[in-house]
Amino acid sequence: MDDEQRKIEWKGEVVSIQPRSTVWRYLIDNRTHRECGYNIFMKGEVHPGSELLHHDRGSDRYDFCVAISEKQQAKMKIHIGDVLQGTGWTKKYPEIEFADYYRAGSLKKVNGEDSSARTMDVETDDVNVRYDGTPIPRVKSADYPGPPWKMEVPSLEIYAWRGGRMLSKASWKGKCFQCIWANMANVTVQYDFDRNLVRNRFETFCYGPLSCKYYSMGPARAVPYKGMSGVKDQGWLDEICVQYRTDPDE
Ligand code: SF4
Repeated sequence: MDDEQRKIEWKGEVVSIQPRSTVWRYLIDNRTHRECGYNIFMKGEVHPGSELLHHDRGSDRYDFCVAISEKQQAKMKIHIGDVLQGTGWTKKYPEIEFADYYRAGSLKKVNGEDSSARTMDVETDDVNVRYDGTPIPRVKSADYPGPPWKMEVPSLEIYAWRGGRMLSKASWKGKCFQCIWANMANVTVQYDFDRNLVRNRFETFCYGPLSCKYYSMGPARAVPYKGMSGVKDQGWLDEICVQYRTDPDE
């Protein structure tokens, strides 16, 4: 925990935008994803006051990551190539938040309004519905250039019904980094129910089409629980998470 949160100012170019999510894990019985906004990955500068803050990640994919809300994204339609400026706050709980800054404010497009990013058409499917009869909003990725899909991100509702599969971290860092379907999740592992102990970590997922040629699950993921060893998510939870897909090209 960081008791000295600071307000910062940032400016730079968007090199990727992805959904921001939390995931709750309990052994291999439950993996619940909740999409709560977007992470924008920036190349640029961060200033807490008059000094310049450097982020050294050993990677040149991005310099820093800012969490924004769904409302902010709906209003600003941020996409790769936008030059943005804004404010943000350093993290109170760095162990549970992947983005470097959150509570973003004063967002402004420095290079002007640009609506060049393509959006995916959404169709409402009232034939293949959810268990409660709710129609499903669907987009068909294969109708657009990709992979990776570098378009305007869809609404969080679209991500929520699609569900995510585990994606190898190497893929997330590499060829998937700019894809709208890539995701770095803030994960809570329920380690002990009786004492309500949890473990936190970050994991990579893919909300993209099941047919994507870039997809690689990576190694099975250990899900620790008190007094148990060797429990791993081998991928079958993925099948539950994407159960509402009817077309591998969605
Ligand atoms: S594997 Fe997933 S994140 Fe990577 S390019 Fe394909 S759809 Fe995008």
